[in-house]
Amino acid sequence: MSEKNVTENFITQIINADLSSGKYSKVVTRFPPEPNGYLHVGHAKSICLNFGLAQDYQSVCHLRFDDTNPEKESNEYAEAIKNDVRWLGFDWNDKEFHASDYFDQLYQFAEQLIEKKLAYVDDQSPDQIRKNRGDFTTPGVDSPCRNRSVEENMSLFRAMKAGKFADGTKVLRAKIDMQSGNLNMRDPVLYRIRRLQHIKTGDAWCIYPMYDFTHCISDAIEGITHSLCTLEFEDHRPLYDWVLDNVDIDCHPQQIEFSRLNVSYTITSKRKLNQLVESKVVDGWNDPRMSTLSGMRRRGYPPEAIRNFVKDVGVSKKESVISMTVLEDAVRDVLNKTSPRVMSVLRPLKVVIENYPEGKVEMLTGSNHPQDESYGTRKIPFSRVIYVEQDDYKENANRKFFRLTEGREVRLRHAYYITCQEAIKNEEGQVIELRCTYDPESRGGTADGRKVKGTIHWVSAAHAEEVEVRLYDRLFNHPKPASVDHFMDSINQNSLEVIPNALLEPGITAHNEDVVYQFERNAYFKRDRTYEQGKPIFNRVVTMRDSWAKSELQSES
Ligand code: ATP
Ligand code: MG
Repeated sequence: MSEKNVTENFITQIINADLSSGKYSKVVTRFPPEPNGYLHVGHAKSICLNFGLAQDYQSVCHLRFDDTNPEKESNEYAEAIKNDVRWLGFDWNDKEFHASDYFDQLYQFAEQLIEKKLAYVDDQSPDQIRKNRGDFTTPGVDSPCRNRSVEENMSLFRAMKAGKFADGTKVLRAKIDMQSGNLNMRDPVLYRIRRLQHIKTGDAWCIYPMYDFTHCISDAIEGITHSLCTLEFEDHRPLYDWVLDNVDIDCHPQQIEFSRLNVSYTITSKRKLNQLVESKVVDGWNDPRMSTLSGMRRRGYPPEAIRNFVKDVGVSKKESVISMTVLEDAVRDVLNKTSPRVMSVLRPLKVVIENYPEGKVEMLTGSNHPQDESYGTRKIPFSRVIYVEQDDYKENANRKFFRLTEGREVRLRHAYYITCQEAIKNEEGQVIELRCTYDPESRGGTADGRKVKGTIHWVSAAHAEEVEVRLYDRLFNHPKPASVDHFMDSINQNSLEVIPNALLEPGITAHNEDVVYQFERNAYFKRDRTYEQGKPIFNRVVTMRDSWAKSELQSES
């Protein structure tokens, strides 16, 4: 495989320089999710970057669960994360780690800081600590506990660990600089008391280390060379470095920040996605409208499309919102190449071909992929009564309408030319049936060379299978839902349309493997067996290109 996963960017430049200067001989990265929710499209960027770099540099990326906050973490989430990373196409081999694997070592390093007079136990309440930290204009105020002796700190910290104090009554803080211009350096909390069951360590601990203390040490223990994170951690980098400079560990990874991936009309925050799930606005984390990897998988996005998308977006320090269309185009690009074509009529209109013999059935041949012969052909039954799309008929149509209207001839995909003779209406005046005639010489679409501009799709009434089709639209009306005060207010109430009785050509639902099909002229669809009770259900993955959707139809041959 010669093509790189990650296009050259400022991070690859740093890595290349580190390799050529001999600072490192091997690159080790890590993807550090907190198991407190499902992964979303934003995480895909971090995954493709960290795992992609590892592949590009013939190295390995660690999967490390950042499990230091037992309150919101669960094994369900951890398992889902592993599934999603594998589905995206990456593998960590035997390099699965947990921050909790290092709880003993982290504790020893904390004692080291106490011995070095660089950490102290603080009795202030969380509120007092917050208040005394000050802000950008107000300097911090030293805690009354700041100058405790090493002995006192050590015995208090050990008592914290032994469970002698109530939750929230004491913390261990780093002793750095209460006047620092960087608030993260104003004696940050390193440990707090929380009596909670932990998914890995159960009730072995009642004190838990904070992210800023844990993350850098975990990186160093694992020999990570380049620790890539998103821009909001830039102000934490001095603390990352301070901790590693002051504990006895001889590895000092470099933290490098890049900008988050944001996609328009979506949410990329596990907390907010969780709100959607909890409030039942969506059908779970893997609802096909969710910007989660599991949602995109259920909807039918190919993992390759997500990888291509992330690669095209690139890596930089500039904040931006990428248009949803870019993601959808990446999906179309892959599906256009890989999806077999079939015919399905979503909103059926009956067509009787008057001069076609009753009871006759012909098996016509349709190509499964117009650009790729290796997809082969299939047999499609044709008979006197067929269905076409309601949209493909128009009363009093003008000359630019190349589909069905009285007196006009169109080509049936893979079949004959038909001419519309008459539209039959019900009492309300709605067209419920078309009477047409066909030209027996036009099979395969090459009659006498006469011009027929429109081609429409169809299914044979006696052979088609009823399926349920679910059309998904954007979950939010607002391009930046995260930026509005109450993001739940910008939910698109019409993000799901269910068509209970669409018609699909026969033979498709019998396949065990759920590939994504292009329902010709409609959209891409993937079977969704999650809730099927008899009738097959198909999710719309993505619409066709606009030129198709506009449906002033052009000739296809
Ligand atoms: P969330 O706010 O959704 O919970 P998070 O950053 O808290 O996101 P983590 O599980 O801590 O979620 O993230 C794991 C890794 O993925 C981190 O390195 C984080 O920087 C990265 N990441 C998270 N969101 C994005 C994003 N939108 N774009 C790029 N990387 C991201
Ligand atoms: Mg986080």
